[in-house]
Amino acid sequence: MDLKLSKEYEDFRQEVRDFCEKSKDQMPGPREIGASDPKRQAWQKLLIEHGYTARTIPKEYGGYGAEPDVLKSRIISEAFTETKTLGGLSNQGISMFVPTLLELGTEEQKKRWIKPTLEGTHVWCQGYSEPNSGSDLASLQTKAHVEDGMFVINGQKIWTSGAHESDMMFCLVRTEPDAPKHKGISYLFFETDNPGIDRRLLPNMTGAASFNEVFFTDAKVPMDQIVGERGDGWNVCNATLKHERGMLGDPNAAGTRLKTIIDMMHEETLDGQRLIDNPVYRDRLVQLQAEATAMQYHGLRLLTASIKKENPGLSRLIVKLQGCELNHQIASFAVDLLGELGVLYGQTPLVRNNGTWQFSYMYDLGLIIGGGTAQIQKNIISEHGLGMPREPKVGQPKPAIPA
Ligand SMILES: Cc1cc2nc3c(=O)[nH]c(=O)nc-3n(C[C@H](O)[C@H](O)[C@H](O)COP(=O)(O)OP(=O)(O)OC[C@H]3O[C@@H](n4cnc5c(N)ncnc54)[C@H](O)[C@@H]3O)c2cc1C
Repeated sequence: MDLKLSKEYEDFRQEVRDFCEKSKDQMPGPREIGASDPKRQAWQKLLIEHGYTARTIPKEYGGYGAEPDVLKSRIISEAFTETKTLGGLSNQGISMFVPTLLELGTEEQKKRWIKPTLEGTHVWCQGYSEPNSGSDLASLQTKAHVEDGMFVINGQKIWTSGAHESDMMFCLVRTEPDAPKHKGISYLFFETDNPGIDRRLLPNMTGAASFNEVFFTDAKVPMDQIVGERGDGWNVCNATLKHERGMLGDPNAAGTRLKTIIDMMHEETLDGQRLIDNPVYRDRLVQLQAEATAMQYHGLRLLTASIKKENPGLSRLIVKLQGCELNHQIASFAVDLLGELGVLYGQTPLVRNNGTWQFSYMYDLGLIIGGGTAQIQKNIISEHGLGMPREPKVGQPKPAIPA
């Protein structure tokens, strides 16, 4: 078996590497990576023009319009990792709302909303969770009724990541209060600075504030700012969740992080020995590398299935659980490697890499919860992937065990 890539693909690899090397001076710095930063937006446009992000999104919606090609996608991601080049934006708009619109939006919605989202002009947040509806999302109570040809929203969302920096929100609301809970929800989207919308920041354990509570008091939304039909929001929401779980468990993210850790292991020493030469740390590194490599190949399987329009079944369900836990283990390894410096945080002279690993250690713990907790993922895997019996609901009699 010849596993070498053909000349076409080797030439493509060279082309991507050349781009990365030549364009480094245009790449935004660490403080310019927010989606609304002009330098980040210019970089994003450059990547789209070359097909290194939004590669398969049709040109008429602002993408590059290439045919799907698993190997080329893989080559792009490898070349960007090798050369430490910043990739395309990945956020709730680009990685979740855009694919939802591509799948279920109207032609007009695709033309109106996808391009400015890809370019970072619109930044989106996701209004799903409520104070009493997290894992049991379909029990959500934020309501919308119709008045003078507009949806009018009242209620509250919570844990809305980035709402304070977003100009748009996609949001689940109950529009059919008399329908069964999964049938009464609609998927609306709107500007976050509309009158009647109040966003309040919530701090998290990293010390930063990225979540929000969002309150709605008679907030008005045009009737055409709905994806899918009225009452069909649960199906639309599941399409978005599928992409969210893929984004959160991104199989390539772990490989990129490990590369940074290897650089650190070459630079830092313990008792005069480079960390990379310490057998205990090398052992942990290799274990994590094996898991990251397995995730990357798993990502290729999923990409292949999606190009062939096949249902990847169980394979897709494990990505979020495995990817988020692996990222947390990697951050935990980095903190251990730093020894006593690993407990430093904030602006202190000896802190390494601006405390990024300490931040990730805490933040990644949250990502095991966000987008569906690890326990819920395990329920989904067992019930939908492995065909095991549904777990009994609280307050309902346990199913009889056959003799
Ligand atoms: C970093 C982060 C970012 C987030 N960003 C957003 C966002 O942008 N938009 C948004 O809408 N929401 C967001 N969330 C909220 C997130 O979706 C919810 O926190 C999550 O769905 C869990 O809901 P909950 O917090 O209400 O916990 P609960 O549902 O109350 O769960 C509490 C505990 O009970 C367990 N549990 C609940 N039901 C079951 C069951 N049936 N079987 C086994 N165990 C169960 C859970 O696993 C958990 O451990 C974010 C959360 C985090 C941590």
